[in-house]
Amino acid sequence: MNYHILTLFPEMVLEGLNTSIIGRAAQKGIIRIDAVNIRDYSRDKHRHVDDAPYGGGAGMVMQPGPVCDCYEDLCVKLGRRPRVLYMTPQGKVFNQSIAKELAREEDLVFLCGHYEGIDERALSRIVTDYLSVGDYVLTGGELPAMVMIDCISRLVPGVLNNDESAEIESFYDNLLEYPQYTRPEVYEGMRVPEVLLSGHHKNIEAWRRQESIKRTLERRPDLLAGANLTKKEQAYLEELRRSIRQQECSGPDT
Ligand code: SAM
Repeated sequence: MNYHILTLFPEMVLEGLNTSIIGRAAQKGIIRIDAVNIRDYSRDKHRHVDDAPYGGGAGMVMQPGPVCDCYEDLCVKLGRRPRVLYMTPQGKVFNQSIAKELAREEDLVFLCGHYEGIDERALSRIVTDYLSVGDYVLTGGELPAMVMIDCISRLVPGVLNNDESAEIESFYDNLLEYPQYTRPEVYEGMRVPEVLLSGHHKNIEAWRRQESIKRTLERRPDLLAGANLTKKEQAYLEELRRSIRQQECSGPDT
């Protein structure tokens, strides 16, 4: 997987991504992270890349020329025109299934806006996907690009030491992950659940599945509609729902 980040702040994304697991994957050549400075494509002797918005209003807008030239130069170097993901609060909210789909690409371009964003003509010319990290506004697209690259990279074979761990994490199968425990066995009087010490793998698996269902119901019930549950698990979920309804009806203890 080759990432190409078009940004005004290459050092910000490179410093953040060349660290820990993602940095190690880049060092091993499993992924490639390349940041291109849009300012290098300025047509102005002062290296300006932004100007005031037509029609007035607050802030500055990134000009179309440097953004398009930066992308076109990259396409010439690559010999192809990869997908361009524009980081924007106006985009589709990024999630695990979008990450899974993007992880299949060979090259991805992340276009990071700044100030009030990028001139619409550049966007309509080169952008293929509009993606957001959530319904809030950040100062630039660099952090969203880093979030998405981190998430996508975990799905690229060889990036995680244990390929299984991406398979059973939260959002896999539309369920949140079960609670995790490590040493010591007792911490401040709180014991690790007995089943996890039993060495009985089938029981451990069943317990984890139930805890995932319970946790998803408590924290993200919206996900459950898309979860793949066995008949037994559906019955367990119904039982949990019934007991929550009963608790709600009986109200708080007085
Ligand atoms: N004026 C723009 C609007 O209202 O849609 C917001 C511009 S924002 C201050 C500057 C840049 O930050 C955007 O061009 C975008 O690249 C990035 N950005 C801000 N919030 C984001 C979000 N939630 N998801 C992805 N990118 C975001």
